[in-house]
Amino acid sequence: MVASGSKCRVCRGPAIIDLPRHNANFCAEHFLELCRRQVTKAIEHFAMFEPGDRILVAVSGGKDSLAVWDLLIDLGYQADGLYIGLGIGDYSEASAVYAREFATARGLRLVEVSLREEYGYDIPTASRATRRVPSSSCGLSKRHLIDKAAIDGGYDVVVTGHNLDDEAAVLFGNKLRWEIEYLARQLPVLPARDGFPRKVKPLVRLTERETAAWCVVRGIDYLVEECPMAAGNKHLAYKAALNAIEADSPGSKASFYLNFIERMAPLLAAERAVGVESVGTCRECGAPTTGEVCAFCRLVEKAGAHERVPVELVVGRWGKR
Ligand code: AMP
Ligand code: ZN
Ligand code: ZN
Repeated sequence: MVASGSKCRVCRGPAIIDLPRHNANFCAEHFLELCRRQVTKAIEHFAMFEPGDRILVAVSGGKDSLAVWDLLIDLGYQADGLYIGLGIGDYSEASAVYAREFATARGLRLVEVSLREEYGYDIPTASRATRRVPSSSCGLSKRHLIDKAAIDGGYDVVVTGHNLDDEAAVLFGNKLRWEIEYLARQLPVLPARDGFPRKVKPLVRLTERETAAWCVVRGIDYLVEECPMAAGNKHLAYKAALNAIEADSPGSKASFYLNFIERMAPLLAAERAVGVESVGTCRECGAPTTGEVCAFCRLVEKAGAHERVPVELVVGRWGKR
C-alpha cells in the first residue's frame, strides 16, 4: 500500500498508507484521524444529524457500512444497525454473519429483517418473477424496508455506507446521459418528507480504498466478495474509468463529486421542486405512494406467488450482459 521507508505526514513515524489525493502518507493513528475528520466534516457541512439523534445504519456486512457504523460510534453518536436478509444464497448468509459479529462484539443493537421469512420471497426469485435485472427488485426492497424500519423504530435519520467512489460513479452515469432529474436529487442528504425518513451518506468524502483501510486498521472483518448478482453492473465500469483518471491526476474524483455538490447542485434547485407530487398511502401497507398500492406490495404479491428460484439460475442469466 505504501513505499517502504515512507513517513507519516503528521508524526514522521512509519507510514502504512499513501493517499495521493492528499499528497501524503500516514501512520495508522493519523490515518484514522484523517478518516474521522473527513466524516465529521461531511456530517457538519451538510448538517446530517446532531449528537443525541437516534441513527439507524443500514448495514450490508461489507466494508463501507461497517466502517460508517464504527466511525459514528467512535465519534460518540448513538447508532443501531439494520440488516436486510435478501436471500442471495451464500452471499447473503455470509454477509449476515459479518454484520452480526460486528454488532455482538461491540454490544450494539442490530435489527434484522428477512425477505424470505417475512415477505415470502428473495431477490433471485423476484428477479425471475418480474423479468427485470436483480438490482431493480433489490433496490426497491431495500429502500422500502429501510424506510419502514426507520419510521417504525422512531429513528431520526437513516445512514447508508455510500462512499465517494459510489457517488462519483452514479454522478458519472447521470452526467453521461444528462439525467437532470436524477442529478438534481443526487445529494448526500435527503430530507424527510411525506412519511419517508431523512437519509444521509456520511462517507461521501472517503474513497472505498480508505473505508477498506479503516476496517483493516480497526480489525473489522467484512465480506470482501461483491454481490454475485451485481456482475455486469455499469457502475463498475464507471468506477474503473474514474480510477484511471484519478491515477493520472490525483484528486479529480473528489473534485468531480464535491464540486458538483457545491457548485452545480444549487443551480438545480428548481428542478428538485418539479415532480414532487402529493403522496397518498398504500392500501396494503400504509407506506407513502402515488398509486393505490405501493411498488413494494406489488412486488411482494408477484414474487411471493412465484416458485423459489435458486441464485445460481439467475446469476447465469444476468451475469454476463
Ligand atoms: P448497495 O446498494 O449494495 O451499493 O449498498 C448501498 C448501501 O445500502 C450500503 O452501504 C448499506 O448502507 C445499504 N445496504 C446494502 N445492502 C444492505 C442490506 N442487505 N441490509 C441493509 N442495508 C444494506
Ligand atoms: Zn502519524
Ligand atoms: Zn405497500
